[in-house]
Amino acid sequence: MNALTDAQICNTVLIVDDEQGQLDSLSELMSLSGYEVSTARSGNEATRMLDENAYDTILLDLSMPDGDGYSVIDHVIDKAIHTKIVVVSGNTDFESTRSALKKGAYDFLKKPYVPDELLATVKNATNKKQLELANQTIHHKLEESEHLHRFIVDHSPDIVFMLDKEGRFTFLNDTVYQSLGFDKNELIGEHYSKLVASQSKDQAKYVFTERRSGQRKSRNVELKLKCSDDAEFRYFDTTSMSIDLNNSTIHGNGPIEGTYGVARDVTEKKQAQEMINYQAYHDMLTRLPNRALMEDRLNLAITHAVRNKQKLAVMFLDLDRFKWVNDTLGHAIGDRLLQSVSQRLENCLRKGDTLARFGGDEFALFLPNIHDEGDASIIADKILAELKEPFTVDDHDLYVTSSIGIAMYPDSGLTIETLIASADLAMYAAKGNGKNGYEFFDTSMNEASNARLTIERELRKALTTDDIKVCYQPQVAATSEKLVGFEALIRWEHPERGLIYPGDFIPIAEETGLILELGRYVLDRALADVKHWREEGLTNARVSINFSALQVQQDSFISEIVEALDKYGLPGAALEVEITENIIMNDMAQVIRKLRKLTTLGIKIAVDDFGTGYSSLSYLQQFPINTLKIDKSFVSSINVSDEGTSIVNAIVAMAKGLKLDLIAEGVETDPQLEYLKSLGCEAIQGYLFGKAEGAERTHELLSQVESGKDIRDLAVV
Ligand code: C2E
Ligand code: MG
Ligand code: MG
Repeated sequence: MNALTDAQICNTVLIVDDEQGQLDSLSELMSLSGYEVSTARSGNEATRMLDENAYDTILLDLSMPDGDGYSVIDHVIDKAIHTKIVVVSGNTDFESTRSALKKGAYDFLKKPYVPDELLATVKNATNKKQLELANQTIHHKLEESEHLHRFIVDHSPDIVFMLDKEGRFTFLNDTVYQSLGFDKNELIGEHYSKLVASQSKDQAKYVFTERRSGQRKSRNVELKLKCSDDAEFRYFDTTSMSIDLNNSTIHGNGPIEGTYGVARDVTEKKQAQEMINYQAYHDMLTRLPNRALMEDRLNLAITHAVRNKQKLAVMFLDLDRFKWVNDTLGHAIGDRLLQSVSQRLENCLRKGDTLARFGGDEFALFLPNIHDEGDASIIADKILAELKEPFTVDDHDLYVTSSIGIAMYPDSGLTIETLIASADLAMYAAKGNGKNGYEFFDTSMNEASNARLTIERELRKALTTDDIKVCYQPQVAATSEKLVGFEALIRWEHPERGLIYPGDFIPIAEETGLILELGRYVLDRALADVKHWREEGLTNARVSINFSALQVQQDSFISEIVEALDKYGLPGAALEVEITENIIMNDMAQVIRKLRKLTTLGIKIAVDDFGTGYSSLSYLQQFPINTLKIDKSFVSSINVSDEGTSIVNAIVAMAKGLKLDLIAEGVETDPQLEYLKSLGCEAIQGYLFGKAEGAERTHELLSQVESGKDIRDLAVV
């Protein structure tokens, strides 16, 4: 089979003749030569067969009775049948042959034919037909590949273009519409500059007009292109598109003929990059510069100030009650408040000033180009005034004040670090001075801060020695004047500086976290003392202990109390926990849960310094509280100022409404006592019945009260 000739594989011939003898002899000749032979006895039969089968060649007699040879030729031409017709005719006159060839026959032979000549003619016709077929396939393939390339080019995400040597478009793919919204047909013949955005004009000119050859024929640049008004589908910037352009000059055999190039849309990549840069230097919540950007700018401003012998001011700003908002109203509202605050702060800025958010509720501001402290004061006053109006967030009217520390360059520091640290210290001073105000840094603040560091160090030491003492101040029933309990108050017996009151070290202990250790110490000592007194059969009275916010926040808050009571075998009723209003407003859900736990243990809960914080009646109702402690500032104003007196009246009325017990602290005089009694206040604490005394003195006092002595007579004031 491998030895098959070409003819055997594929050459077919149809022999059409009405004479049987002729048909047979031709069939034999062709078969012997390797052709696959079919025969037809008439023109009509031949046309039928041609409709059903394909033949490479037809040997065709012209004159036949039933459909002549011409009708076969017409049929082949009409139906565009791909075959070659060789006319074998007895009509050798010139006219009939000519008209057959004219109609579309390929060649002709005269009867009687010479076999070799016939075979040569058929072979020639067959070859011709096959060559045409091959050409047709190639042609078809070429068309296909052209189509493919078109498809690839038009579906490329990049804009592909060609320019003539004048810079006019000679080719553009369809992508130009998707990307820029321009119809490519409108652009053909237009100059490229029609597409280049104004900010990239010069660069584009340089790229397109520079004549390069050889290795450096192509180059990459980033340009901005214009978009058509129709290009609304672009997400970000609909007026322009950033592209990466790869552009090459086209050389024919000689001079430059034009340019072709590929423009890639890098808008999103650019925007992502810009976004990343933006995020690195901005606070995402307020869109203000962050610390890094502020420090960058401050650095420049300092260099500038040095050169021009100018001053500048750095302000540190902390919102006074922000934590409360965040804790009670939630972070979403806290976040929106911060946004509104930053907007108002921006209203206070002059051109060139920078406002930054350092995190949380801390903002920093620097003002270049300042003459003196007066200029900075003006801005600080403006900020305080701007914050006066309440902020409305989700139906809440929120009042926000801020404490501002100001450091001047060069007086308060020469480097960014010292300026910021100084402004920070000044801000703390402003907080210490009652908040809602500003302070300029001065060197005494450094001393104060050093002093604080000293206190911190010494306090740590004092906890390991016996220098911290727990003292007890009596609490009595208002009408019977019987002793009902004590409040534990700490004192620091400093080896060099003498007695230090808690006001001078508790805030530092709270800031440094030392209050946790201090608190554990007080709890242990106080319960140990109560246990001791009880063993002597002296009293069933309870002790009230003050707890700071940080202590209440601890997960171990409850367990430490329970362990201490267990340690001394005391019931919960031996203890009252004093917390301030601000504590209960922190993280309300947590605090409520913890206080409930204490209540179930029989421990009483008192709200200390009541009236000085911000708690509202509606909040208070949700807490398991037993007692309100009227702050001594209100007690001292009884009968002195109408305002103070009416606050006391209001607190008493509120406590009655909430069915809470009342204790007044700081009661020093009989008229105060009488007034409080007349209002129905149950308990009294104050110098009228004695100051806080050490454990031993308290022990003595107890024995004397037990033996029937009047506590008033025992009070040493
Ligand atoms: P506080 O809990 O409101 O304590 C009452 C303060 O008023 C005590 O001051 C007490 O000595 C004083 N005081 C009592 N009666 C009178 C009076 O008739 N007239 C005047 N002028 N003052 C009176 P102290 O002991 O200096 O304590 C100050 C604050 O220190 C306390 O206020 C409390 O908040 C805190 N503190 C004291 N001991 C502790 C403690 O162990 N732990 C914690 N976390 N804080 C404590
Ligand atoms: Mg207290
Ligand atoms: Mg108090």
